[in-house]
Amino acid sequence: MSLLVVGSVAYDGIETPFGKKDRILGGSATYISLAASYFANQINLVGVVGKDFADEDIELLKSKDIDLEGLQIDKSGNTFFWQGKYHYDLNNRDTLDTQLNVFEHFDPIIPDGYKDSKYVALGNIEPSLQEKVLDQVNNPDLVVMDTMNFWIEGTPDALKKTLKGVDLLVINDSEARELAEEPNLIKAADKVREMGPDSLIIKKGEHGALLFAGDEIFSAPAYPVIDIFDPTGAGDTFMGGLLGWLSYTDDLTPNNMRKAVIFGSVMASFCVEKFGPERLKDLTEKEIYDRYREFRQLSEIPEID
Ligand code: AMP
Repeated sequence: MSLLVVGSVAYDGIETPFGKKDRILGGSATYISLAASYFANQINLVGVVGKDFADEDIELLKSKDIDLEGLQIDKSGNTFFWQGKYHYDLNNRDTLDTQLNVFEHFDPIIPDGYKDSKYVALGNIEPSLQEKVLDQVNNPDLVVMDTMNFWIEGTPDALKKTLKGVDLLVINDSEARELAEEPNLIKAADKVREMGPDSLIIKKGEHGALLFAGDEIFSAPAYPVIDIFDPTGAGDTFMGGLLGWLSYTDDLTPNNMRKAVIFGSVMASFCVEKFGPERLKDLTEKEIYDRYREFRQLSEIPEID
């Protein structure tokens, strides 16, 4: 089944306690698409880049069979640029610079050939743009959305309007608390689901993730990554792994949703092992499935005899 991915395509400057890169490929749509490419049969990317976007980055996306008909190339300016710095607590980062460049006037136009995509990933962009995407697609089976504090605080009305058209929201724990105005995560989840999304995933950084679907709560473990170099894109990569698996299997049963959460976690655990999307360029099927099995073992709870 085809997967439509809409979000930012960027260049990032990243500094972590383990090193520094002045300019590396980034953006939410990039990470989602690259992670999903290991599973999904057809990925349709919608975004915008500028005149400085490198041919080798286009080639990278193409080499992963990511369709780029929806990637606008705006020669009037440069690609979106974001710069961030992490400290030893890699859950917190400082944004040092954001240059919107061609992203400032981004209008997500969905090509006709993408409008029947059954799975839709709305990367973290302005909620009114996310809604514009939903206005153009024909009855997808699953719309998954990411957002952030910036929009929760800055455009709460637009965000709440967009949420009404979303099936599954993927946010982190502080965002869930802020959106629901409720410190207790379980109560916050109920409140967020009342805003529209039938299901909810709350990511807890390096501590795993919670899936709320139907009457069930599923707690996914965190993988004890030894070589964390750069957490940039981990959240988007999670969403890419999750949606890649769901679109590949075309199965939204609770059991398969659980598998999708683990595949999301698997891909995120790889992402942080190298700078930027480097680690997502050449993973093997064996590495991915082996790590899935390690995740299973991590949380095997013995029966009481
Ligand atoms: P994550 O670490 O999963 O939250 O995502 C990091 C990616 O988000 C980076 O590659 C950035 O290029 C991108 N990014 C940062 N700020 C923004 C923004 N305001 N709008 C869209 N994308 C952004």
